[in-house]
Amino acid sequence: MNAKELDKDTWLITRGEGQGSTHNYLLAGEDKAALLDTGLKAEELRDFTASLTDKPIVVIHTHGHIDHIGNDQQFEEIMLHPKDFDLYRLHSSADFRRDFFKGKPDEELMKRPINQEVQLQPLTDGMIIDLGGRVIKVIENPGHTHGSVSLIEEAKKTIYTGDMVCEMGVLMHFPESTSIETYKQSLTNLRSAITADYQLYPGHQQAPLSVEWIDAYIACADELIELGNQIAKKNPVDKGIAEVQFHSKGKATISYTSEKLMKSRRT
Ligand SMILES: [Zn+2]
Repeated sequence: MNAKELDKDTWLITRGEGQGSTHNYLLAGEDKAALLDTGLKAEELRDFTASLTDKPIVVIHTHGHIDHIGNDQQFEEIMLHPKDFDLYRLHSSADFRRDFFKGKPDEELMKRPINQEVQLQPLTDGMIIDLGGRVIKVIENPGHTHGSVSLIEEAKKTIYTGDMVCEMGVLMHFPESTSIETYKQSLTNLRSAITADYQLYPGHQQAPLSVEWIDAYIACADELIELGNQIAKKNPVDKGIAEVQFHSKGKATISYTSEKLMKSRRT
């Protein structure tokens, strides 16, 4: 785990390299600091953040996946979109965390259960979170999960996008992922909320990314939607299959199951 100073009050906290790298972001205001996600493996994250800022910390989650909530037990104030509350309870359970590591659980992680009773505070679309002299805005972007959000800091032309746009692919094949159509709508909304000179800070891999990456994912999603239309034309009752597939266009890659393309299954 190391911290890269993005500016004097903002840090990229990262572990690993390449595909398996995981990023959290620490944004300090005058009154409090926002920690965007808490990683996967057991770490002394609270002590680490305390070495960077003395402000009280509110954890804001981009979504509820296991690799974004791993050190939540060290923090009291936790915010998440309500559509990921059930996902959070599942991914913070001991059974799920054991299975995730396929029989080789991270022993340290197993010793530190996430508090299943923690009172999660709901994030809502358009919500402004005031850190004191510094504000971030919540924008809903269902796709990778139903409760995924991005956090926009307009003053710095920065957006924290979680797993919505990543250098090495976006995973859309999970049961908790939306249809490709909904994901594309979220990308379009996100793009219209920012200007071309914004920087995107994702949850994994290369950071920052340019806004062009959003356009690349929109184009990739468009091709998948067209593919779904073609399947539906040939067989109007096709419900799709749950086998994971990948589609690439330009620099974007999206994993999906063909059931995510079918109108009858769209959510
Ligand atoms: Zn995720």
